[in-house]
Amino acid sequence: MTKKIVIVGSSNTDMIIQLKEIPKPGETVIGGKFSIAAGGKGANQAIAAVRAGGDVTFISRIGKDMFGDSSLKSFAEDGLNVEKIIRDPAEPSGVALIFVDAKGENTIAVASGANANLSSSDISNKHDVISGADILLMQLEIPIATIEAAAQIAVENDVKIILNPAPAQHLNENLLKKISIITPNETEAEMITGVPVKNGDDAERAAKILIDKGVGIVIITLGAKGAFVFSNTFKGIVSSYKVKAVDTTAAGDVFNGALAVALSENKNIKEAVRFANAAAALSVTKLGAQPSVPYKEEICNLLEKEKIN
Ligand code: ADP
Repeated sequence: MTKKIVIVGSSNTDMIIQLKEIPKPGETVIGGKFSIAAGGKGANQAIAAVRAGGDVTFISRIGKDMFGDSSLKSFAEDGLNVEKIIRDPAEPSGVALIFVDAKGENTIAVASGANANLSSSDISNKHDVISGADILLMQLEIPIATIEAAAQIAVENDVKIILNPAPAQHLNENLLKKISIITPNETEAEMITGVPVKNGDDAERAAKILIDKGVGIVIITLGAKGAFVFSNTFKGIVSSYKVKAVDTTAAGDVFNGALAVALSENKNIKEAVRFANAAAALSVTKLGAQPSVPYKEEICNLLEKEKIN
C-alpha cells in the first residue's frame, strides 16, 4: 500500500522581473521582462512529491484572492490533495517579488500574508490528517510554533518527520530530537551547527553535531556534488547527476519532495537520496520553481540511463 505523505508549509506566487540592473532605492528601471510562477517552499515540495508519484496532502493557508484561486486550481490539476488547504478570510496569499539582473543575481521581497497565519490551532484541527500519515514533511516558511505543533502530533503517532530547515533559523533542541531526517543545504548546515561546510569532511562534522542533538538521519545537500548522508546504515556522499544547469531555484525543494516519495516507497536511505538527486538535477535544467519540477517517468528514465552507462 502507498504510504501517505503530509506536507505542512507555505505557498507563494513568485512575480519575477528580469532586468539589466536591480533598481537602487529611489530609482526606476525600465525594460524588464515579467514572469509569474507558483512558488513557496511548502507548495514546491508538495508539487515535487506528487509529480514523483507520492500520495500527498498539503496543509497550507492561502488568501481569498486571485493568486489563491490560481494556486488551488494548479495544485488540483497536478493531483495534489487540496482539501486541507485553508482559505484565509483576511490576509492575502503569499507573494514574492523578485528582481533578477543580467548576472543572475537577485533580490527578493516576500510578503508572507496568509502563510504567517497558519497556526498551531489550524494544526490541532488537522490532527487526524497528520496522525494518519506515514511521513510529515515541513520547511521553515511558516511560524515555528506551527511546526512544533505538527511535530508533536507526528512523534506521538510514529509519523516520520522530514524537516528541511530553510530558510535557516535557530532550532531548539526539543524540536531537533523529534526529527527523523533533517535536510539542510551547505549554508543552512553552517547556520544551524556553526561548521562551515565546503566538503564531505566538513559535512560529516556538521552532521555529527545534529546527530548528537537527537536527529535520526542528517542529509546535507551539496549542490552539483549531490548530498552527504549520515545515518546508521550509510555514511558518505551520494553523487548527483551531470546536467546543464539553467536555474537552480527550487532544487532543494524538489530534492525534499522526491526524497519523501522514495522513503514512502520503502527505498533505503541511499537509494532514496539517489532518487532525490535525480529529481533535483532534472529541475535545475529548467527555469522557475514549480514549472521546473520533473515527473516520475523522467526521474526513472534518468536513473535507468545512469545505470546503463
Ligand atoms: P538548495 O537549492 O536548497 O540551495 P542545493 O544547492 O544543495 O540546495 O541543491 C539541492 C540538490 O539539488 C542537490 O543535493 C543536488 O541533488 C541537486 N543539484 C543542485 N544543483 C545541481 C547541479 N548543478 N547539477 C546537478 N544537481 C544539482
